[in-house]
Amino acid sequence: MITRSALLYLSEREGLKDFAARFKLFKKLTIRFVAGENIEEAVEAIRLINQKGCTASFDHLNESVKNEAEARAETEEYLAVLARIDETGIKSNVSIKLSQFGLQIDPELAYRNARRIVQEAASRGNFVRVDMEGSDVTQATIDIFKRLRAEFGLNEVGIVLQSYLRRTMDDAHDMLTIPARIRICKGAYKEPPEVAFPDKKDIDDNYVKVMQLLLSSGTYHGIATHDPKMIAATIDYMQRENIGKDAFEFQMLYGIRRDLQEKLAREGYNVRVYVPYGKHWYPYFMRRLAERPANIWFVMKNMIKG
Ligand SMILES: Cc1cc2nc3c(=O)[nH]c(=O)nc-3n(C[C@H](O)[C@H](O)[C@H](O)COP(=O)(O)OP(=O)(O)OC[C@H]3O[C@@H](n4cnc5c(N)ncnc54)[C@H](O)[C@@H]3O)c2cc1C
Repeated sequence: MITRSALLYLSEREGLKDFAARFKLFKKLTIRFVAGENIEEAVEAIRLINQKGCTASFDHLNESVKNEAEARAETEEYLAVLARIDETGIKSNVSIKLSQFGLQIDPELAYRNARRIVQEAASRGNFVRVDMEGSDVTQATIDIFKRLRAEFGLNEVGIVLQSYLRRTMDDAHDMLTIPARIRICKGAYKEPPEVAFPDKKDIDDNYVKVMQLLLSSGTYHGIATHDPKMIAATIDYMQRENIGKDAFEFQMLYGIRRDLQEKLAREGYNVRVYVPYGKHWYPYFMRRLAERPANIWFVMKNMIKG
């Protein structure tokens, strides 16, 4: 039985990443979770998502770039995405990871690159979500986000918090004083028990508490989950507190619980689908398998079918 932590361990192996990326065969495995290798494939996926009544967020897959030139290339990719959103009229914003822009090389480099994206988005009336990565970069990510938020508006740049982190409730209070638009999710990385709750129950309890704090804040936030219990808790809370459906959005990942995405959209909730694309899909793909090791069988069946 392959466990969550074994899959998360494999997700961090650089050698496997390069090995997997080189083989076309692996592309077939990823179709369920990754919208394609280039912008145009992602645009087509988003058109279909829009037709189902959902909005989207582009995510160009390429974590932990190794040098300044790669970080610049990532920045150019996102500038092109923002232009393409305008040209095609699709309903989408963008999600970025600061490691893509050089966070591990030099935080100033990541800040400058991220700033270019947020500036471009702001000039186009669009929005940039700064994803949250492993706990080794939580503080650096928050620091850069705060600088960006000081320069740009509430509806131009937002952040992500993870309910598995012990620090998240404090961060949520802090962010709301700015104020900032927050996406709350459970958290997808391998973390030690000192920084993250090891038990699902604690992660879920914290998720509900943060979700309630966000919904009551009056700012537009993202409730990111596929967990029917978290979704039910959100709907229950908003109904009890008389909070409107347009005061927040549900967010889910491309290819996961499409039935639920469409059902919530039909019921009048705002639903945004996070759409990853690109050649460097390996760590993202492995984190999705880690969330639900049963998906390995789904993937293998597809491979055998050819
Ligand atoms: C829009 C969005 C953005 C995200 N951004 C970030 C981020 O910036 N940083 C970060 O650390 N994490 C991010 N995540 C990932 C998140 O942290 C979780 O790892 C992921 O969403 C799984 O948690 P869950 O809330 O869906 O519930 P879980 O407790 O993992 O699962 C609950 C139920 O949801 C369904 N489900 C969950 N995952 C899958 C799957 N892979 N395949 C099929 N069914 C599944 C199953 O029915 C499962 O029983 C994001 C998630 C979403 C939806």
